[in-house]
Formats: sequence, structure tokens, C-alpha cells
Amino acid sequence: MPTQNRLTIRRVIGVNIRELPADDNGCGWFHLSPQRTPRPAHSGHTRARWAVIGAGLTGLAAARQLALKFPGDEVVLLEAQQVGYGSSGRNSGFAIDLPHDIGAPDYIGDPAVAGMNLKLNLAAQAIIRRLVTEHGIDCQMNPLGKYQAAIEDKGLRVLDAYRRGLDKLGQAYEVIEGRDLPAHIGTAFYRKALFTPGTILLQPAALVKGLADSLPGNVSLYEGTPVSSVEYGDTITLRHERGSLSVDKLVLTNNAFASQFGFLQGRLLPVFTYASMTRRLSDSEQARLGGNPIWGIIPADPFGTTLRRTPDQRLLVRNGFSFQPDGKSNQRWLDKVAVAHRRSYERRFPMLSGVEFEYTWGGAMGMTRNHASHFGPLAQNVFGALGCNGLGITRGTITGTLLADWLAGERNELIDFLIGSSGPNRNPPEPFLSLGVNGNLCWGQYRAGLES
Ligand SMILES: Cc1cc2nc3c(=O)[nH]c(=O)nc-3n(C[C@H](O)[C@H](O)[C@H](O)COP(=O)(O)OP(=O)(O)OC[C@H]3O[C@@H](n4cnc5c(N)ncnc54)[C@H](O)[C@@H]3O)c2cc1C
Repeated sequence: MPTQNRLTIRRVIGVNIRELPADDNGCGWFHLSPQRTPRPAHSGHTRARWAVIGAGLTGLAAARQLALKFPGDEVVLLEAQQVGYGSSGRNSGFAIDLPHDIGAPDYIGDPAVAGMNLKLNLAAQAIIRRLVTEHGIDCQMNPLGKYQAAIEDKGLRVLDAYRRGLDKLGQAYEVIEGRDLPAHIGTAFYRKALFTPGTILLQPAALVKGLADSLPGNVSLYEGTPVSSVEYGDTITLRHERGSLSVDKLVLTNNAFASQFGFLQGRLLPVFTYASMTRRLSDSEQARLGGNPIWGIIPADPFGTTLRRTPDQRLLVRNGFSFQPDGKSNQRWLDKVAVAHRRSYERRFPMLSGVEFEYTWGGAMGMTRNHASHFGPLAQNVFGALGCNGLGITRGTITGTLLADWLAGERNELIDFLIGSSGPNRNPPEPFLSLGVNGNLCWGQYRAGLES
């Protein structure tokens, strides 16, 4: 049996869920995407073959594919909040194609593994493209590529190393020297960038709202329905404050909150990261900025700053991390990061000094220590695609889809690769876990220097 399954299958009888998601109300993408009426919350009792927990990118993909593979079954998709309000709607909108193994000296590592991750990401992009086109989802999807930019010597070394990795993988890139960068991105802040053409930029909340509103007819989506207890067995009972569901099979796609359901405890870490978005730039401000009208920059240092210039002419700044084991938003952190975002913004955009942020928000990523995710069985009749590690747009889309394919009996090289991967590794118990994660986050952010 593959390593991942041997490690994680265990007997679980039932759990009361102690922590439920509670994201902040500051996400610009959510408020700026098309308004929709959320589907009603579940009430009463329902019997169904399948339940999927969490209507983020992973859950939406899993529910859609289950419904297609089992057209005679009802697939119930339960979401604690509104669709688009969770992390899937509050990320930076980079649907990334290339693998980036931060543990490997050339950020690619084993070419065979990197090649499979590339195939997974490309398959996810193809799914996103197809669904956006088929259902006319207005999510500002742009196949514009991304810049990975550096300012510190350490960052420049990362770009050189990644370039060697991309050569090994046969992937295209362009090196852009600092003097040429303002023509691309307006700011003269960076010393060098690696442009890779395969990333798709999009409006994440608009994407997930559109995906939710185009689900097949045999998916019953209930929003505002946080599951608060589970009894496992031949039939699984899910309870919430207005009712319950009995299902044959449970699919967990709720990222780090899967720990609350009794699985992968201490292995899925809710690490928050934060973003701020300016008001719309005026025509004269856009002219002062210069460069291309839409772009996305990721940092050379993983603890550095992500930037977007959006199609509606706002600037987005993302940086800062905090470990919040309860998975909930925290106002103290939001206040703190707003100050840090202002500092990062002013360094990069002195020509647009003082342009206000209209939105500041945070969101949880399901991080794992070895950057591996879980795919496959968790217990009898319980399955999961979990641990997005900050790359859920492509990873969540493809693992949700392939988990449903695997449940329908399909096998192919991508499924075999995911099922056979090692899965998230163990961490020390509390209080050592929090001390270790917080220590690493603080040290990483300090060492990022001007990259942050
Ligand atoms: C600021 C920020 C920037 C990011 N940038 C990028 C990026 O550019 N590109 C990228 O690929 N990724 C990015 N990420 C990561 C990306 O957002 C995640 O990888 C992605 O959201 C994971 O999707 P998911 O569906 O697995 O989980 P989630 O989006 O977390 O969805 C899980 C859902 O489960 C629900 N849930 C949890 N518990 C329960 C319960 N008990 N009952 C019912 N529902 C429950 C939650 O409400 C949530 O909606 C970023 C994240 C943040 C926060």
C-alpha cells in the first residue's frame, strides 16, 4: 500500500468540531466580484451518497467531478461561510504552472517529481480555462505569465538557482535586468526578474463564485452550514445547528480544518498570509506608474512580497505570515500587517506615494512541514484532498478533480503519483509546535529584508 495511506488511515469514531472558519470581512476580491445570492443553508435531515466539506477550489472541483462521474447520485457540498469568502476567494490570483520546490537547491529538485507536478498544474490550468470559457465566468482571467523579482543579493541567488532548475526542466523564461524592469512593471525597485510565461492571473473570488453557480444539477450546495460534529462508520452522520445529513462517503476538502474532523492533526498548519489592495488608480496615476497595464510579481524570497496590478487598475500587496492554530482571522494581525503593507508599498511605488488601501485582509493556507499534501483515503469511507501549501488555485483544482476520478475507479499516472506521495509529515506537539512555527515565520520574515 502506498506510503501516504499507510500513514494516515486510522479508526475514528466521532468528533465534535471545536474550531470553525471565521474569515475577516476585508477582502477586496470578494467585495469587487459580482454579487450573488448565496445558496440557502441546509436544514432538516438529508440522506445522500456523497458529502463534500468546504466549497473552496478543491471542494468545488471534487463535487463537480463526483457529480459527473456518478450522475445518478446526489453530491452534497457543505460550506461554513459564503462561497468566495474563504481562502479560495482571498488569494493573490496566480494560477501557477511551474513547480517550485523551496527545499531543493535549484528549486526544482528531482526532475521526475517536478515533471509530474508540472503536469498536474497544467492539467489544472486546462480545467480552469475550460470551465471559465464554458460557463462565461467573468474572473479577469489573463494568461500573462508572472515576474519573479529580487532586490537583495540572496534573492538574486534564488533567481539564478531557479533558472538552472528551469533549464533542467526545459521550461522557458526571460531574464529581465533592473534597468529594463520599469518598462514592464513601472517600479524601478527591483534589481532583476525572471519572467515565466505560463502563469494565469485571475480574480479569485469571481472565479469561485462562478464555479459555484455553474455546478452540475446533482450537486446540492449549502452555504452558511458549518458542520459541528461527525459520527463515522458504515454511514457517516454530519451534524450542524439546524439539522443533519447521513452519507455513505465523506470527502474532506476543507484544507487545515480537516484536523478538526480528526485527521492529520498537527500536520496541517493554518498559516495566515495577508494582502492589501489600493483604490482604483486615476488615469494620471496610471501614467505616473507606467509599465504594462496588468501584471503579477512573486518574490524571489518565499517570505517576500507578492504584487498585482489588476485589470481594474488597483495595486495589491501581499506579505506577512502568522500561525493561528484556531484557523480564525485575528484583528491584531490585520492591524499589524496593514502597517507593513504600507511600508512595502511606499518602497516600491514612490511615484504613487500615499494612495490609500481600500481593503486589507488575511486568509489561511493549509501548510505542511514537508510541503506535501494529502490525497486519498483517511479512514473507512472518508477521503481527502488537503494541504494546499499556498498553491491551491492549481493544486486544489486538480487534486479535487482527480480524487473524484480515483473514487470512480480511474487510474492514471497523475493519480498514481498523488496516491503514492508521502503526504504531510508529523510535527512536534504543542507548545513546541507553535514555538517552532512562529520562530520560523519570524526569522524568515526578518531575513527577507527589503524583499518584504
Ligand atoms: C492572501 C493569500 C494569497 C494567496 N495567493 C495564492 C496564489 O496567488 N495562488 C495560489 O494558488 N494560492 C494562493 N493562496 C493559497 C490558496 O488560497 C489556497 O491554496 C486555496 O484557497 C486552497 O483551496 P481549498 O479549497 O483547498 O481550501 P479553502 O479555500 O481554505 O476552502 C476550504 C473551505 O472549507 C470551509 N470549511 C472549513 N471547515 C468547515 C466546516 N466545519 N464545515 C463546512 N465548511 C468548512 C471553509 O469555510 C473554506 O471555504 C493564497 C492564500 C492567501 C490567504
